[in-house]
Amino acid sequence: MAGQASHSSRRAFLLGAGRTRPETQSPAPQRPPWSLAEKTFLETCSGCGDCVDACPEGILVADARAMPVVDFAHGQMEPGGGACTFCGRCADACSTGALLASEARATSAPWSFAATISDACLARQGIMCQSCKDACGDGAIRFAYQSGRVAVPVIDLTGCTGCGACQAPCPAGAVSFQRMEAPQGEMADAG
Ligand code: SF4
Ligand code: SF4
Ligand code: SF4
Repeated sequence: MAGQASHSSRRAFLLGAGRTRPETQSPAPQRPPWSLAEKTFLETCSGCGDCVDACPEGILVADARAMPVVDFAHGQMEPGGGACTFCGRCADACSTGALLASEARATSAPWSFAATISDACLARQGIMCQSCKDACGDGAIRFAYQSGRVAVPVIDLTGCTGCGACQAPCPAGAVSFQRMEAPQGEMADAG
């Protein structure tokens, strides 16, 4: 598909990008990939819902203002759904420019979200579990081993694409997604 970011190109945007967790979590919701920055997005998106309808994974829903927002849990209710494949169909369906067109997507990271793991994690409580690691196709979750203790998961922020695949398999509901600080020059237009 034209404009579709390959697995390698997606990782190229993120690897070595120097992303860090923000000191305070942004209140801006997780819009579809390749969204304009929140203020501009709200001014540009018509709330038509075409991107929501276009997503084969079912991870886009309308928020209280009828604006599209990512809801991995919604996608997980559909067979095989629940993670973003970065297929670009949502952006292709957008006629207002609120989601970047294919040419612009070729040089823009889809978003700056990455997984984060809370203290609800079973492994952090001494219970053996590595379900999130098994689900991550990007190899972005490693386990830190400490003598005499259960290994705990650690997210590689340079490898995590924020795809959401690790959320559903987590039996503790410990995985959520947080906006990263983008390095200078990246994500100048996309949110
Ligand atoms: S890129 Fe594909 S899977 Fe991801 S939100 Fe858009 S349509 Fe859904
Ligand atoms: S969101 Fe989860 S599954 Fe996806 S790349 Fe990040 S750690 Fe891996
Ligand atoms: S799947 Fe959930 S509970 Fe299990 S190790 Fe990963 S974050 Fe912890």
